[in-house]
Amino acid sequence: MSLRDIYESGFDEESGKTTTATTCPECSGTLVTEGGESSCTECGLIVDEHRLDHGPEWRSFTDDETNPKRTGAPLTPARHDRGLSSEIGFGKDGKGNILSGRKRRHISRLRHQHGRARWRTKAEQNLAHACGEITRITAALELPRMVCEEACTIYRAAQKENLIRGRSIETMTAGSVYAACRCRGSLRTISEVAEVALCTRQKVRLGYRVLNAELGLQIPAVDIRDLILRFASECEVSDEVRYRALGLARIAEERGFTNGRNPSGVAAGCLYLACREFGAYCTQTQIARLAGVATTTVRERYCELREERGNCNPNTESTPESKF
Ligand SMILES: [Zn+2]
Repeated sequence: MSLRDIYESGFDEESGKTTTATTCPECSGTLVTEGGESSCTECGLIVDEHRLDHGPEWRSFTDDETNPKRTGAPLTPARHDRGLSSEIGFGKDGKGNILSGRKRRHISRLRHQHGRARWRTKAEQNLAHACGEITRITAALELPRMVCEEACTIYRAAQKENLIRGRSIETMTAGSVYAACRCRGSLRTISEVAEVALCTRQKVRLGYRVLNAELGLQIPAVDIRDLILRFASECEVSDEVRYRALGLARIAEERGFTNGRNPSGVAAGCLYLACREFGAYCTQTQIARLAGVATTTVRERYCELREERGNCNPNTESTPESKF
């Protein structure tokens, strides 16, 4: 929201006119903007309900606010210089005129020096490399721009806290991407991140653990139901299997099977048991690969659940498990 108390101008969508109101139209009292509403301090009349600050984003600290210039895209944490870099082009000037040979040689020398002066410190150069790597990983995982920027913000915080020293940039970038996925609720497993990252699963996990422990990230627990729905759609199982797997997830949560266990493993176990109950064709290996866990894990979770299911729901004992 705005840092200013009162919006300097508003926009009336119906009439399409820009309104500039700083006094109440009824009693001429002072208007105060809070929580997206402009209200009068005297009589409480709500004058405006804009959640956007339509004023200019600059603030001038000098008296002449005559013509402050601004240009370019909004700032982004996904670039080492927050998107404020400037490039010296080739061959043509700003108006599209061809440069003379003498000028071109001059510009070429400037470009050379510009490239050298780009990094102020080694840390900044590393940050640029990391930002590029994070952008590449998030693009390969088809994650939204928001997650990419979140990952870059996490990486910057880690660099500020001196967590990168002694660890590879690849480890920490992959860890940041996974952490950003968890923070934003985008479901990606460590294995999926490791597949496109330039490091192993163990390294991704290490990077994530360091970031999580040292930066105190606000990461919600993974919901097993989300994982089940994802694995189920990739296995292309029927709706009844999917529904049954969700029911099994509820049983697993109630009986405490999810405590201290890998959510992917539990989700895989639920789905595999549901598949077997309904005779859907899906192998342990297939589900294990999707969930990024070992086949043994799927089997263990499956056996636990099967015993538990027997205790709580005897109706499912007559299911066609003999098919397998
Ligand atoms: Zn008023």
